[in-house]
Amino acid sequence: METRKITCDQCGIEKGETNHWLIAVLPTGDVRFACIVFTPFRADHDDDPEMEMEHLCGEGCAQKRLSRWLTELKANSTSIAKETQIDVHSGSD
Ligand SMILES: [Zn+2]
Repeated sequence: METRKITCDQCGIEKGETNHWLIAVLPTGDVRFACIVFTPFRADHDDDPEMEMEHLCGEGCAQKRLSRWLTELKANSTSIAKETQIDVHSGSD
């Protein structure tokens, strides 16, 4: 089995034997809804080209990552809203 050196994408700590690590999964493709998913760390997770995976050393870094994601979401939401104006009541004339 391949042993890759794994470091936390949030704080940079190197993964040891303990396994309370998490993976943050972010879709990179053209998705309708922005989302972030946290899943328990697995050494054998598949590399999906349409997903960006970030290793996180634990809950603390997962919370920081989520916080950063929400900040980015808020920063992006105004421009996205302008680009993809969905008229729910279209054809009401
Ligand atoms: Zn960390």
